[in-house]
Amino acid sequence: MNSDPSLIRFSIFTPFPELVCAFSTRIGGVSESPYDGQNMGLKTGDDPDNVLRNRKSFFSKLGISEKEIAFSDQIHGTKIAAVFKPGVYESCDALITNEPNTFLAIQTADCFPLFFYEPQQKAVAAVHAGWRGAISGIVPATLDLLVEKYRIQTEQLRVAIGPGLQKECFEVGEVVFKQVDEKFLTKHPDRQKRYFDLYGFLFDQLTEKNVLPDHIFDLNHCTKCLEQRYFSFRRDGKQSGRMIGLIGIRNTDNF
Ligand SMILES: [Zn+2]
Repeated sequence: MNSDPSLIRFSIFTPFPELVCAFSTRIGGVSESPYDGQNMGLKTGDDPDNVLRNRKSFFSKLGISEKEIAFSDQIHGTKIAAVFKPGVYESCDALITNEPNTFLAIQTADCFPLFFYEPQQKAVAAVHAGWRGAISGIVPATLDLLVEKYRIQTEQLRVAIGPGLQKECFEVGEVVFKQVDEKFLTKHPDRQKRYFDLYGFLFDQLTEKNVLPDHIFDLNHCTKCLEQRYFSFRRDGKQSGRMIGLIGIRNTDNF
């Protein structure tokens, strides 16, 4: 449904023409190795001019100006900002809004990006969920704040989950596996480790808050395995680029 390999759009949002939601891949762009090509992360060691060119190209494909974007400055925490306008939101791993023409942006490389849309209240959210944020409950906390601020109904919510580290690749140590239910863990050849199903963990958190399973779209792509398509911190280490995703409502009153 999407012929441009530099970005992903999620089919679950197709019925909502007022919504803009997309996630970048590493395909295209002007960054050079090891950040080739469409690196969106400014704090990665890459040439910032190239990152800004990559971002500008991506945003313009979506018909969005950088001045319309609310960026989260992520720290693997659980702080959520309800935003009214574009800008940079420090120390936030999730953003929510019901303002049209304010597009919420998150960056990832292995952590899962989650995008929420509640079509009746026209509220959106973007969440960055790695194991730390997920275990600390950033997803249910975001749902609670959407209910509190915008009176959304979680039964109406549509959720898209982008690429991330899948369970076959998600090695974790004791610090992680002691905190999660056995059902999300599988055995690892090293007895000090397990494989963690972070996607399954997030899915359960969503459905426990009455999000309908049919309303959750999982891309099911592994960032570590799909080297041509995605950056991966687990695979590439500190010299890993980042993808960016955004979601927001385009106010078409002027059209
Ligand atoms: Zn993998």
